[in-house]
Amino acid sequence: MVNGLGFLYGLVSMATCVVMTTASAGDGSWLFHRCMWDCNKQACRDETGFRSIQPWYLRWLQWSCVDECDYHCMWHTVEEMLQHNRQVPQFHGKWPFVRFYGIQEPASVLFSILNGLPHIYMIFKFRQTISASTPMYIVWHIYAMVGANTWFWSAVFHARDKPFTELMDYCCAFSIVLFSFCILWLRILGTENRLMVGAISTVFLSLYVYHVRYLAQGRFDYGYNMKANIAIGLLNAACWLTWCFRRRREQPYVWKAATVSLSLMLLISLELGDFPPYLWIFDAHSLWHAGTVWLPFLWYSFVIDDSHYLMNLQHKQLKVPAANGDTGASGDTSDVNVDDMQTNGVSSASGDDNIRIRTPFNKSL
Ligand SMILES: [Zn+2]
Repeated sequence: MVNGLGFLYGLVSMATCVVMTTASAGDGSWLFHRCMWDCNKQACRDETGFRSIQPWYLRWLQWSCVDECDYHCMWHTVEEMLQHNRQVPQFHGKWPFVRFYGIQEPASVLFSILNGLPHIYMIFKFRQTISASTPMYIVWHIYAMVGANTWFWSAVFHARDKPFTELMDYCCAFSIVLFSFCILWLRILGTENRLMVGAISTVFLSLYVYHVRYLAQGRFDYGYNMKANIAIGLLNAACWLTWCFRRRREQPYVWKAATVSLSLMLLISLELGDFPPYLWIFDAHSLWHAGTVWLPFLWYSFVIDDSHYLMNLQHKQLKVPAANGDTGASGDTSDVNVDDMQTNGVSSASGDDNIRIRTPFNKSL
């Protein structure tokens, strides 16, 4: 997810993945196996007949007869184990959840939707105050789409855990991690030089395509996915925090981006406390999703402030020739913070070389 915002979302996704690579106590037990054997034999001989009596929402969510057996045998096993004072087991790497109208993990679905909606709401708010000519304007729109898409697939995956939905969830989680990192470089180097933007985008897009192709072919490589998310996630967080630290005086509002980055790291600790779902609904993963709902609001607040900052730089820069009374290069630039302009890649649209502020592509973090 979770970014700027989604950048540590992938770390959490992979934490779940690691569990899924190992056999779970529940589905490995003889109780479960015996139940599945009986259920398959008795209920699944006639799939068509089974479908005809199945509620529409379960059919729509593609609950097959075997899936139904799996679900009912899961609860049968849990009840038996609890009656014998044994611990709640996991099944297929997951805790047992009560499904809601066929939705496997209702809390995570709800919180995923609540994480996704702010991307749509806040980008409209962004559009109300930010001019389309502002640097990064398009980038933040793409970011909102990537964010909303990520949380959409998160909701779909938690609604129905299938190989395809799982792949989409992990790939989309990585998309926001990687895109967030890409945005940081666009923010530092500027979006004026099309060649530079193209080069940065190509590098990140190539990385993403490689990642998705690798995950999509053959058996899902959870270990690789984990390493990729950790590497990019931590690097991204470190770079954003460094940038915020360096810009804290000129742009005091960067505390918002830093808070989001640090909050994500702290909220990840929720994932470490893995426990059986409270009320069979709320597990640590769903609480992690609940905990990140407020972050997009603060993140987009940073985005809006930053865009205002860039807009002001643009306006100040346009005042330079008027203030000087000519287009001379050595005039008074008291109205212009040249260093800020250089750092943020803002340059004059006039084309006049004398007043043009060049984008410093070699500017360090
Ligand atoms: Zn999730």
